[in-house]
Amino acid sequence: MNRINVTRSSMPDFEEYCEEIRSLWDSRWLTNMGEKHRILQIRLGEYLGVDNVNLVNNGHMSLETAIQAFDLKGEIITTPFTFASTVHAIVRSGCEPVFCDIEPETYTIDVSHIEKLITEKTCAIMPVHIYGNVCDIDKIQEIADRHGLKVIYDAAHTFGVKYRGRSTAAYGDAACFSFHATKVFHTIEGGAVCFKDKEYSKRLELIRNFGIQDEDTVSCIGLNAKMNEFSAAMGLCNLRHIEEKIAARKKAYDRYISNLKDVEGLKLNYVMADVESNYAYFPILVDKELFGAGRDEIKEKLAEYGIGSRKYFYPPVNEYECYKDRFDSDDTPVARDISRKVLTLPLYANLTDTEVDMISEIIMSLRIK
Ligand SMILES: *Cc1c(COP(=O)(O)O)cnc(C)c1O
Repeated sequence: MNRINVTRSSMPDFEEYCEEIRSLWDSRWLTNMGEKHRILQIRLGEYLGVDNVNLVNNGHMSLETAIQAFDLKGEIITTPFTFASTVHAIVRSGCEPVFCDIEPETYTIDVSHIEKLITEKTCAIMPVHIYGNVCDIDKIQEIADRHGLKVIYDAAHTFGVKYRGRSTAAYGDAACFSFHATKVFHTIEGGAVCFKDKEYSKRLELIRNFGIQDEDTVSCIGLNAKMNEFSAAMGLCNLRHIEEKIAARKKAYDRYISNLKDVEGLKLNYVMADVESNYAYFPILVDKELFGAGRDEIKEKLAEYGIGSRKYFYPPVNEYECYKDRFDSDDTPVARDISRKVLTLPLYANLTDTEVDMISEIIMSLRIK
């Protein structure tokens, strides 16, 4: 039997990619904002319905360069239920993360806790859209406006997701995307920052290219966060097929739902009202007492059959080796509880019905009889 990994990268046909990169052999322009880069920025702007899309070399750099573009200093409120990147970006930028707990249904920032965490040092909120669930955008904006804070969304999970008919790229002062090979849309490695205001795009253009303004002027302390042409070409190919890939994911997602719904001790994640999902992940929350087996037992059993699953996100960031002396996960009990129960199951465009059924059956075989 073939292994089933937790994800499998979407790829265009080999010929389509070869055709896309052919011109690079004539131009010999391989990176530094070439033709593919230029066109991909335009196409993404059209697809996402936003004006200021700025490509970078990975999702992590989208967060760091956005923080630098806003020249943020001080405390940034975020959540511990996220990928390492979100918090590392804050710390590596010289800012202080302040952890807010999450909401138990959507796993996104619990807006009822934000205001009590705001101090005179707070400069921004960095909420994370999780799995395809969207944060409470209206409430976050209202709080940010009241306190004069920037909002930078970590939107790495929500490429193609719409909230009230608009892409998540359109909300906040900036929305940061990852185009890593494992994401719904990818450029092998890559990412983008979408700014509300054009002036920040200008700054980001400088930052991502060492701060070089022109031949004689280096005007800020930038770095190298440029997307290369081969990545941009992969993005152009993948973008042509994005709708069919999301539809194929939905098919697998729906089948999991029908197989696993109403099982005592398993909590599934449903698409929120007002949200068009991208079906990026299929997380289940396992209640050991009610189900009969815990999250880790399910993971091990699946592994025996060559099926990958991921404790995503575990541990919560405030329990990481590198942070645990500075923070306490007691402060965010919901995030801690969910990270101990969550398991994401395999989900990708070509996962078959038979595979989804087999995975579901293996899980159900562990249930209390
Ligand atoms: C993938 C991801 C990132 C980092 O993106 P890379 O492209 O891997 O650098 C950041 N935040 C979240 C929530 C992610 O899922």
